[in-house]
This record gives sequence, structure tokens and C-alpha cells, in this order.
Amino acid sequence: MRPSLLDPLFAAVTTLDGVGPKVAGLLQTLLVRPGQSLRVRDLLFHLPSGLIDRRRREEILSAGQSSIVTLTVRIDRHVAPGRAQAGAPYRVYAQDDTGEIALTYFRAKSAWMENLFPIGETMLVSGKVEWFNGRAQMVHPDFVATLAEAETLSLVEPIYPLTAGLSGKVLRRAIGQALERMPDVAEWIEPSVVRRQTFPSLKASLARLHDPADAVDLDPASPPARRLAYDEFLANQLALALARQTMKGRSGRALRGDGTRLAALKKALPFTLTEGQTGAIGEILADMESPERMLRLLQGDVGAGKTVVALMAIARAAEAGVQSVLLAPTEILARQHAAGLAELCARAGITLDLLTGRDTGRKRAEKLERIGSGETNVVVGTHALFQDSVAYRDLGLVIVDEQHRFGVHQRLQLAEKGDRPDLLVMTATPIPRTLVLAAFGDMDVSRLAGKPAGRKPIATVALAEERLPDIVQRIGSAIEAGDRVYWVCPLVEESEKSDLTAAEERASVLRQFFGDRVGLVHGRMKGEEKDAAMAAFKEGRTAIIVATTVIEVGVDVPDASIIVIEHAERFGLSQLHQLRGRVGRGEKPSACVLLYRPPLGETATARLKIMRETEDGFRIAEEDLKLRGEGDLLGTQQSGMPFFRLARLEHHADLMEVARDDARLILATDPALTSDRGQALRTLLYLFGKDEAIRLLRSG
Ligand code: ADP
Ligand code: MG
Repeated sequence: MRPSLLDPLFAAVTTLDGVGPKVAGLLQTLLVRPGQSLRVRDLLFHLPSGLIDRRRREEILSAGQSSIVTLTVRIDRHVAPGRAQAGAPYRVYAQDDTGEIALTYFRAKSAWMENLFPIGETMLVSGKVEWFNGRAQMVHPDFVATLAEAETLSLVEPIYPLTAGLSGKVLRRAIGQALERMPDVAEWIEPSVVRRQTFPSLKASLARLHDPADAVDLDPASPPARRLAYDEFLANQLALALARQTMKGRSGRALRGDGTRLAALKKALPFTLTEGQTGAIGEILADMESPERMLRLLQGDVGAGKTVVALMAIARAAEAGVQSVLLAPTEILARQHAAGLAELCARAGITLDLLTGRDTGRKRAEKLERIGSGETNVVVGTHALFQDSVAYRDLGLVIVDEQHRFGVHQRLQLAEKGDRPDLLVMTATPIPRTLVLAAFGDMDVSRLAGKPAGRKPIATVALAEERLPDIVQRIGSAIEAGDRVYWVCPLVEESEKSDLTAAEERASVLRQFFGDRVGLVHGRMKGEEKDAAMAAFKEGRTAIIVATTVIEVGVDVPDASIIVIEHAERFGLSQLHQLRGRVGRGEKPSACVLLYRPPLGETATARLKIMRETEDGFRIAEEDLKLRGEGDLLGTQQSGMPFFRLARLEHHADLMEVARDDARLILATDPALTSDRGQALRTLLYLFGKDEAIRLLRSG
């Protein structure tokens, strides 16, 4: 049970004055993910993005446009709109020694205005100044006070990220009340860390950030900002450490084998394993052999050759007489894996079945039967693998491919199936080290660096979209010569429909040149249609495949050597890298054409430059983190919410490791969190919504 101390923070926001259902709705979109319930706490976690400092005064004549300024002015006269001028604004003219400004209000009542702006009074007004025909005006100043009033008001005011319809004033008032509800909580951070980092208490830190005295208080390097970041990291790392403790605690099984299938597999491979692959396989087999459960992340760039590593683990599981599942995020990928692995598996004496949501009726029943009897060694599929109707005879190994979108509790759920199976997660998103800790801090990590030998570099160019005709011509000669081409159209305004239109239009334009050599694949197609389109491309019946980003993850067509990405400026760096990884997999030299629509913004320019400079996924990931923060790297972009709310990885990464070590140390000495500090840490977990982690404490 959540400590009652926190109850005021977990009340609905409508319990605050000035927050009705309408404001609550706006706060909901601003502060939490869809479907999550909004609490008073979420207001506390909404930190200011800057502040207005009204102690600095400016003069009318020199006031710049677009930034918020504070002026000291004398009220000169009122000009109310005439009766006939419906919709015309009410203007109050005011002056200082440098000039005149109109304070402009729409739909204002005369009586109210006269009261607010007494003629002859000297007042402070802040807001944005607009200049038009040499005249200055300020529309709906956001702050108005007489000099006497200003004495008592706070002249430094935080500014918050807002959403349409929500005013800063309403938000600040709500946050002010939330702060008042913040209870005193026992310190949960290790005293030595508190001292070394000079952390104020949580309550003091929140108060300081929401009521800054100066710009330095909002600096991410300030002790209050770092304290909050640390709390968030600690909650995250403690939850992961608890998950790890739970998984490891229920001991696994020692999976050993005689090596026959591994040997057969190695012989069947058309290539020799790279050093990186051999290393990763060694680590995985050692984990499987140990009686502790395997909890391993295999991190390797697109095309690094993770599949064969997984296959070796599957072979070992088969030798040990247990079943494996290989879970792919999409139907296309599941099919591709199954097709790609079928021959090797057959040669190594491993029986494979593909199970997806598309299997129905008798076919499905037959597969379930084989899985249940243990005849199937490895099942490849999508989420359908974890439906209750799927019963395994003895599931010993779960492999999750390309799925960095899984959270820790989904990983735990996966591992519930079967008898304490080993778990291997493979991700092609080369996320930076700090993010690995944040998302996979519960796991051991193997990294597949580099690419299989013999890979040719991908020539990458960025061209303005007016060069499209040239590209079409070049593509023409390339497909004459037997090349295969991906043509990617981006998401338009996040809407699947227009997304589709762009791809369909591009396909029809290309068909004017290349006829039925042009295929199309998009997210709205039925599964079978997608497969057919991909198969036609893979087999060379079509030479160009126009695609929406459904091809982003993992699709393998080694003969494809050119990828054209339209509106490259709309893609994130990691996404561009993933897309580019579709080519450069075969013998031929490859090319990536990034078509963009000018003018390019600063970030887009930087992204395209990095793409031209490097193919190193890990470097690209680090650059991506610098360019735009961590949100998208962890695949949370759909929700628009960053992974962390208080911490900013680009500033606070150093604290993450401290938090990880602290979390592991705590559990080593107090695994059930029963000590005084343990109790305080439970409060921390609740505060950050890690209730699931606390449930682990009870069940463990
Ligand atoms: P990913 O890590 O993106 O899943 P894959 O496992 O799909 O990469 O491998 C990409 C391609 O590289 C496949 O066509 C695979 O057969 C090939 N490959 C994997 N390992 C090697 C190797 N050691 N030498 C040569 N080619 C390899
Ligand atoms: Mg793969």
C-alpha cells in the first residue's frame, strides 16, 4: 500500500482550486501519457523551462520584438472601441521617456479596464512588444501591477511548457497548490551521496525549481535540479534492480548440450563467425549453462549479425532438450526470420514452427499440437506466442528480437511462461550507455561491435528534392544493371492516411517510368499483401519497392543496394540510420540518397551531416542524444513524452551510474527494503509510480 503520507500528491488534480474538468483535460495532454491517470504529483514533476525576470526593466523604444520585456510606464489615456466596431480592441495608451505603447485588449469591459489602469498611474507591464508602422503595442500583457503592488509581488516568475488553451497563470496557481501539498519525507538517498553532491531535500528542491530566485536555480547543474534527477534515476535503477533480483533469485536451469547441433550449424553457415559473434555466443552459452537465469541484452547495430548468435543459443537449448521462442515485433519480421532460419535449422536437426496471429483453424491447431508435444524445438512468431492458448512442453529460452520498446515488466511477463526460461533480448538500436542503463539496467550486456567482414561502405549523399528527376534517371540505369531499390516515404503529419497517400503517389509516379517493376508496401495493407509485395521485391520480380516506414526494422534483402529516403529532414537520426541499414548487406557497393526539402533547420542540417560522416551506429546514437534529448531513442516518440521527466540525460548522465551502484548496494544489504532507509525507498518508488516494482518485493 502506498504510504498515506503521499495521498495528497496522488489525488486528482480537480481537487485543486482553479482546476475544473476543462483545465484537467488540458493538463492530462500536457503532463501524462494517454491512458495514464493524472495526479497532483504530475504537476510537481512539470519543471519550468525558463523564467521571466521583471527586475530587469527596459524602455519602450529599445524593446525588442518577441521576447518578454518589462516596462515601467505612465498611463495616459483609454480608447474604447465604438459601438459599431464589433471585434475592435480596447486600447490603453501609456508612455515612458522614450515613447508610447498601446496596451491592447480584446473583449474587455470598460469598467474593468478603467479600474485596472487608472490614468496618471505609473505601472509595470510585461509581455511581448510588437512593432507595426513604427508603433509599439503589447497585446494582453501577462503581468500588470502598480509600482506599489510590484513591491509585494514576486518579480521573478517561472515559465512552463504549456499547451493550447492553458494559461501560465492557471498552471502556476495549480503548481503552487501542489507544492503546498508536498509532505516532508524521510531521506532515501545514501548520506554520503547527499553530502558529496550537496543535495537539498526533495521538498526544498521542488520548491526552489518552481519558485526560482534567479536563473541559476534552473540550471541543470544546480544542486536542486541534480537532486531531482537523482531521485528519478534512483527510482528507475531500484525498480530494475528489483526486477533483476526477482528474476535471478528464482534460480534457472543449467542448460548443457553435447555440442552436436552447434557443430552442425557452424558447418552449415555460408560464412565464418566474426570475433564479436564468437564472443557473444560464448557469453550466452555460459549464461545458459549456469544455474542462474540468463538475463542478457545483445546490442548490435543493424546488419551486425545478431540472428546467427540467436540461432546458436537455440541450438544449445535444443541440445539440452528444451524449447525456444524467437519473438519478433512484426509479422513481416517473424516470417522473414522463419524463412531465413528454416534451412539452417533443418541442417542442424532443429525443428522450427512459425506462429502468428494469422494462423487460424486447423493449421493453428496442428502447430499448437506440435508445440505442446515438444516436437517443435523453436517457435518463431509475434506476440501471439504468449497467448494462454499456447502451451509449451518445456520452454527454456525466450529470445526477443529488435524490441527495445519492451519495458522491464513486459520482460518479466515474458519470462513467466515456461519453467524459468533464460531470456535474451536483442536490440538493433545502438543506444548510448546511459540509456542502456536506464532501459536495461537489469540485464547483462553483450555488444556486437562492427559488421561482418567484406561489407562495403554505403555512399551517402544528401540532395535537395528538386534533384528528383536526376535521381529517377540514375535509378533507371541502376535497375537496368540489376540493382534493387528501397524508396521510403515518410510519415506526413503523423497520420497514417496521408502517409499512405504520399507513398501511393510516389509509386504511381515511378510506375510511369518503370511500370510493373515498382512495388508498394505500407502499414495499411493486409498481412498477406505485405508479404507478397516483400517477396516480389526479395525475389527480384519488382526492382523498386516504395515503402512507408514499415520497412524500418530488420527487413533483410541482401541484394538491395540503393535506398532513397524522401523528406529525410523529417526523420530522426536513429531512424535514418536504421533505414540506411537496409542496404549494404550484400556483395555490391551501396548508396543512400537523402532527399530533403529546403530550407533545412539547424538540427536537420546537423543530422544529415552526421549521416554522411559515419556509419557507426553507436556514434550516431550519441550524436542523436546530443541533438534532441533521449525521448525518441527509447521509442517513446509516439507518446511525445520523454523517458525521464525530471532528469535530462544530456546533463545528468553522470548521476545514472551513481544511482545504479547505489541501487544494487541497497538490495545487497536490504533485499526486502525493510530497514528505515528501505522504507523511505519504498516511498520513493511509489512517488515515481514504480508500484509494480514494489509488488515484486511482496511476491519475491
Ligand atoms: P541483424 O544484426 O541486423 O539482425 P542479421 O543477423 O540479419 O543482422 O545479419 C545481416 C546479414 O549478415 C545476414 O544476411 C547474415 O546472413 C549476414 N551475416 C551474419 N553474420 C555474418 C558473418 N559472420 N559473415 C558474413 N555475413 C554474415
Ligand atoms: Mg535482425
